[in-house]
Amino acid sequence: MTTRLHDTLSGEVRQLEPLEPGHVRIYSCGPTVYGPTHIGNFRSFLFADLLVRYLRYRGLRVTWVMNITDIDDRIIANANAAGEQIGDLTERWLERFKADFAALRMTPPDVLPRATEHIDEMAAIIGRLLERGHAYRTDDGSIFFRISSWPAYGRLARLDPSQLQVGARVEADDYGKDDVRDFALWKGPKPGEPSWETPIGPGRPGWHIECSAMSMKHLGESFDIHTGGVDLIFPHHEDEIAQSEASTGKTFVRTWLHCDHLRLGGAKMARRVGNIARVSELLEAGISPRALRYALIAVNYRQALEYTDASLAAAAAAIERLDTLEATLDAYAEDRPDAPDLEGVLADARARFEAALDDDLNISAALAALFDLVRELNRRIAERSLSTADAGRALGSLRDLDRVLAILPDEAADLPPGAADLLSARGGARANRDWATSDRLRDELATLGVVVEDTPDGQRWKRSDPI
Ligand SMILES: [Zn+2]
Repeated sequence: MTTRLHDTLSGEVRQLEPLEPGHVRIYSCGPTVYGPTHIGNFRSFLFADLLVRYLRYRGLRVTWVMNITDIDDRIIANANAAGEQIGDLTERWLERFKADFAALRMTPPDVLPRATEHIDEMAAIIGRLLERGHAYRTDDGSIFFRISSWPAYGRLARLDPSQLQVGARVEADDYGKDDVRDFALWKGPKPGEPSWETPIGPGRPGWHIECSAMSMKHLGESFDIHTGGVDLIFPHHEDEIAQSEASTGKTFVRTWLHCDHLRLGGAKMARRVGNIARVSELLEAGISPRALRYALIAVNYRQALEYTDASLAAAAAAIERLDTLEATLDAYAEDRPDAPDLEGVLADARARFEAALDDDLNISAALAALFDLVRELNRRIAERSLSTADAGRALGSLRDLDRVLAILPDEAADLPPGAADLLSARGGARANRDWATSDRLRDELATLGVVVEDTPDGQRWKRSDPI
């Protein structure tokens, strides 16, 4: 195992050595379900998906937990504004989130815990913090973490705690507290807000405690990797470390991974669909989910991603090249001896791909290795220098690398209902030289969004994705 990852806390690139050999435990901060999910959030989720897929491809067991924040200030405000029950609102947006991530081929996390189902665990952590003098109550029943009790506060974000002031970067709460820097663990009951009866009193959790409770419940008090966007480093992850370690006395997380921002291309975006920033709306506008996935994973996670019409078009072109190659290899037939050097070409591509991803998930170098292979295979196809078996081996290699990328078409699954039968009937018609039936079936497939081409190797098909 040689995967190396950049840890935000230490600032070092480190070898991944799971606490339990062969089993990596990963927690990702998930969505707050009060509205449609933005592509910037999905960039961060898909980066975690790429990590999970790659570690599994490498033969590791992975337990991946992504929380669902289903109670917070914005949820309460939106539900009150809409006159809707909080549970109905969060259920609706959670279903939409699941549909978006399925469309973008995100691996379903092993656990998708919901904050409202972990109130007991949160209260238990806060109870321990009160006992140990790291937390205190205010008159309205709220409970705050005392930052002055935790000297390591600020290490993740590289902030000097004595310099922290209330302001743009520090949450200003409405509740009275001893020190402006302190953050809310628990919010006392208020009219018009949901409240839970717990051993620490009635109220509802602060946002930060949710992630400490859900991660430690499902992964243990110490676990391997915690991911999130860079905007979560402070105060969210700083607070998670303080409250978790102050309550357990153990190291909370071994490696912190943070995904950089997605920047919308501003004026450059106005022409087509680029000014849409919500996944569901992009998909409804007809953007190919595979092209969107590609656009969101194709830039190294520690670099800002400039999301523009051009980057989306480049992603669609990359997908198109892969689809064409896959369809060509699938249909390829050439009665000739196997190419003696093909195994070496495929093994080199795989080695370059793995070396790139082992290097802190360097996706751009991994994709360069993939597209060098695409170019080489296209050259050999044009020369007809592959045998039928070679084409099958090459296709097998592409599909193997795609276990990590998830951007190739799923053969049958990607065909619209009924299209597989039409394709098969059309193959039969052509074998019988029944050109009239063959043409009619081609037109029927076109109405389903499937473009059929006839090649010397037989028919091949692809989706006519709108972009
Ligand atoms: Zn979180």
